[in-house]
Amino acid sequence: MNGKMQGVTLVADWDPKPGFKLGAKDIEGRQTYLGSQVWRNPRLEIREYDAPTPGPDEVLLEVKACGICGSDVHMAQAEKDGYIFYPGLTGFPSILGHEFSGVVVEAGKKAFDKRTNKPFKGGERVTSEEMLWCGHCKPCADGYPNHCERLDEVGFNVNGAYAKYMVLPSRTIWSLEPMAHAYKGDDIFIAGSLVEPTCVAYNAVIERGGGIRPGDRVVILGGGPIGLAACAILKRAGASKVIISEPQEERTRLALQLGADYAINPLKEDFADRVLEITEGMGADLFMEATGLPTVVYPGIERVIWEGRTLNSRVIVTARAEAKMPVTGEVLQVRRASIIGAQGHSGHGTFPRVIECMADGMDMTRMSTKKISLEEVPENIIRLQTDRKECKITYVAR
Ligand SMILES: [Zn+2]
Ligand SMILES: [Zn+2]
Repeated sequence: MNGKMQGVTLVADWDPKPGFKLGAKDIEGRQTYLGSQVWRNPRLEIREYDAPTPGPDEVLLEVKACGICGSDVHMAQAEKDGYIFYPGLTGFPSILGHEFSGVVVEAGKKAFDKRTNKPFKGGERVTSEEMLWCGHCKPCADGYPNHCERLDEVGFNVNGAYAKYMVLPSRTIWSLEPMAHAYKGDDIFIAGSLVEPTCVAYNAVIERGGGIRPGDRVVILGGGPIGLAACAILKRAGASKVIISEPQEERTRLALQLGADYAINPLKEDFADRVLEITEGMGADLFMEATGLPTVVYPGIERVIWEGRTLNSRVIVTARAEAKMPVTGEVLQVRRASIIGAQGHSGHGTFPRVIECMADGMDMTRMSTKKISLEEVPENIIRLQTDRKECKITYVAR
C-alpha cells in the first residue's frame, strides 16, 4: 500500500545486564525473550512509516480501535537502574498496540476468512489474536498455541496497532461480523478491541481452569481488565455467586456492573472472613489470581479452601509475578484442591466463542472508560504508570 503513516513506537537501548546470555531465539541488538534483562531507557516516539503491504496469506487492516494494556505500560516504564519493567518477549523499535479491531482493506489470495472459508474481499470488520503462533513447533502441533516455541507477538516484537494500518497473517484474524447487530456505530470496534483481553480471561477460567457448573461459587482476586472480564464470563457460565476482591472503588463498581454479585475491599475487611461469610461457610469452587501479588493474596485463598467446605477448589494463576506462592501442600491434599497456571488467549475455540458471547449481550464496552487519539497514546501510557483510575483507555481512529 502506498502512503505514509504514523506509529507510536517504543525505542530502548540494548544494554544486557551482567550475566545475561543470548537465548536460542534472541537476536543481538533487536529481540529478546527476557525484556527486563536487556532493554534500558525506554521512550515512546511517534515515528513515520511507509504503509505496509500484505503478502499472499496476509491481510492489511485499517485500525479502528486499540486498548492500552498493562504490558504497554510496563514496556515503557523503567526501574531505578533504567531497565524496563516488562520481563517477556520484546523487540525494539516496534509500534506498540495489541488489543485492537479494524477493517480489512486488502488481502492476499491465500488470506482466508474463517467465517466464510473464502479469501477476504475487503470491508470485513475483524479483530486478531496478538500471539502469532507458528503452527509448526511441537506445542503448536500438539494443539497448544499459547505455548508456541517460535512465538512472535503483535505490538511486542512485531509492529502493532497504534498506527493507521497494520499487516497480519490471516490465521490469527477473527471476524466481528457476528456482533454487528448488537452494537451501534463504532461501538463494534470498541467491543472488538476488548476481545483479546476477554479471551485471556476465558482461556484462564474456562479452558485452563476447566470451567464451572451452573451453581458454582467463584472468587476473582483483582479487578483489572482480565479480572473484570472473568466476572462477566463466569456469571454467564452460571456461577451462583461471583465475588470480586479489589481495593479500588471504580473497578469494584465496574465488576458489579459486569457480573459480580459481591465485592470485598481486602484493605478494609478480611478477605477470607468475608468469602466464608458470603458463602455461608462453603468457600468457592474456583479462585482466579489476577493481582500478581501471590504472597499477599494466597494466604487468604488458602484459608478459604481450608476452612470452607467445598472440595476440589481450583486456583487459576493468571497474573504474572516473580514472587513465589506460599503454598501448604497439606491444604491441597486434604481439600482435594489444585493450582493451575494459565497464559495466553489463542486456540481452543476461544476467540470465536468470546465473539459469540459479545454478540449475545455480554457487552464489555463499559470497560473502555476513556477514548483518545493517536497523538495522545504516549502521554496516556506514561500516566498509567501511576494512575490506576481508568480501567481501559482506548485509541479510537478518526
Ligand atoms: Zn495485553
Ligand atoms: Zn509454534
